[in-house]
Amino acid sequence: MTYQNYSLKQLQQIDAAHHLHPFTDHKEMREAGSRIITHASGPFIYDSEGTEILDGMAGLWCVNIGYGRDELAEAAYAQMKELPYYNSFFKCSSPTPVLLAKKLAELAPKHVNQVFFGSSGSEANDTALRLVRHYWALEGKPEKNRIISRKSAYHGSTIAGTSLGGMEPMHRQLNGAVPNIVHVMMPYAYELALPGESDHDFGLRAAKAVEDAILEAGADKVAAFIGEPVMGAGGVKIPPMSYWPEVQRICRKYDVLLMLDEVITGYGRTGEWFAAQTFDIEPDTITTAKALTSGYQPLSALLVGDRIAATLVEKGGEFNHGYTYAGHPVACAVALKNLEIIEREGLVDRVKNDTGPYFAKALQEHIGGHDLVGEVRSIGLMGAIEIVRDKATKERFLPAGSAAVTVRDHAVAQGMMLRATGDTMILSPPLIWTHETIDMACGRIAKALDLGQ
Ligand code: PLP
Repeated sequence: MTYQNYSLKQLQQIDAAHHLHPFTDHKEMREAGSRIITHASGPFIYDSEGTEILDGMAGLWCVNIGYGRDELAEAAYAQMKELPYYNSFFKCSSPTPVLLAKKLAELAPKHVNQVFFGSSGSEANDTALRLVRHYWALEGKPEKNRIISRKSAYHGSTIAGTSLGGMEPMHRQLNGAVPNIVHVMMPYAYELALPGESDHDFGLRAAKAVEDAILEAGADKVAAFIGEPVMGAGGVKIPPMSYWPEVQRICRKYDVLLMLDEVITGYGRTGEWFAAQTFDIEPDTITTAKALTSGYQPLSALLVGDRIAATLVEKGGEFNHGYTYAGHPVACAVALKNLEIIEREGLVDRVKNDTGPYFAKALQEHIGGHDLVGEVRSIGLMGAIEIVRDKATKERFLPAGSAAVTVRDHAVAQGMMLRATGDTMILSPPLIWTHETIDMACGRIAKALDLGQ
């Protein structure tokens, strides 16, 4: 029986009765009823009532090539017929993960040549955490196991992901995080720069917090620093250009590994294949997922730099870690086709030289001047709009996040999907957006802001 045989009300009732949702207040959702998205095409999603909504979030930062790509469905179908599943444990492999690993090594920064697959960003970060600690143990320094992360970072929802992340509401429900992870200040100039402090100086000060944490623990106790090149779920916090080179210099000085979480930024979002290239970072690990398959299949890839890989291979023996669906043949076939499409359509270059700059200009021109907007910022095709009560003083509305939620609801009613996180609205559209789509989005957001006033 297909869903068409159910009314919206029936689907909502069944949803409320049986389906627990991620990051959801279920009582609230029961009262309002869930919005049931039934189909999608290009940059648009459609709900059960046929409402067309421009998807400003690419699903959840992932549908980078847009919806309705037959080629991905065909790649999955062909692979399912030929080999729907086989594992890559116990010295077995299958062709699509092999070829995908080769492709990823070609696209990644040049000292990054090995890939460990999983099904989600959270799993990949779990692998990354285990791998860097294992690395230092193999190097004879098991006590070098502390990880430095940042407040408001998002690294996933498993216990390891939550512990690595710096989301306070998530930690509050954890009742016991993975030990030896500390969180330092984030590079968020809009709220944290001192009066008169330049962006450049603020970036250096935020990086200094990493050095302070290393010195406090002692460098011989610190395994790695982990960070999203641009903090995503925390509110598209774009660091000053001075931040990453300084963090990298500090990590090198104290022999601390550098782990990048590119689950959002990977595969073109900032205008390069990886934000490591945008910010000129040479990381030891790069966590990726989401846009690797444009969300058409669940797949993650932890990209591992030569330094760690060499130790793992030469000194490691068996790495006692892995997932049933690591290197899933169908997910890898879809990823290969997805990367082929991104290359064929020149989407990364388009974000860098065309749609990214156009998006930045359109946000400034159509949104930046609004009374409710304290700041707009973007890099490539990810952006943020800060909602404030007072532009000059940056005073926020209370309770925190309420005004952004109101604007978000108006935006959805205008046919525009974007997200509210705290007092910040965020945008992360498919990379297929054109000038026309960007203009349409800005028009709808401006109207939602007017209604939210
Ligand atoms: N890391 C970052 C930076 C993310 O944004 C996310 C998800 O949004 C994750 C990790 C977790 O990925 P997943 O939800 O696939 O487990």
